[in-house]
Amino acid sequence: MTLHKVLVSRCLLGHRVRYDAGASGPFDQLEQWLAQGRVVALCPEVAGGLPTPRPAAEIPGGQGVEVLAGDARVLTAAGEDFTAAFLSGAQQALALVQRFDIRVAVLKANSPSCGNLLTYDGTFSGVKVGGEGVTAALLKRHGVQVFNELELPAAAQALAALGR
Ligand code: SF4
Repeated sequence: MTLHKVLVSRCLLGHRVRYDAGASGPFDQLEQWLAQGRVVALCPEVAGGLPTPRPAAEIPGGQGVEVLAGDARVLTAAGEDFTAAFLSGAQQALALVQRFDIRVAVLKANSPSCGNLLTYDGTFSGVKVGGEGVTAALLKRHGVQVFNELELPAAAQALAALGR
């Protein structure tokens, strides 16, 4: 029997891939899924070609949905345009989801790529607003249930509901 796999943000697995070269974790649930061979790990921004560390980026005037539609860009505070890298990372996440038939993802909260409920408002002032990052928005559009690291029990329930 093949267990359902879960797409997980690499920074939640202790990989130091965040913009500030930081990471999060460990999380017991993620460790368990790793041991079961369920985890498919990706950092969309690094996969998209960005270095670590890198300048923080936000989405002025929009969210991931608008970036996917071509109506907003991902910019650093200095105005550097990271949109192409973010879109590439999101497409790579979708390719993994389709390759492994993934229905559940656990992505880092609040990120302009991975955030599933909130992202920063584009003013680089620490203010969060409702919305999704670019990768989270693309995966949700394709039917993936996207959770963050504070929602691991709900993610586990969603996985269990899939039946294996
Ligand atoms: S939040 Fe997503 S894009 Fe940012 S470091 Fe973590 S995995 Fe990479």
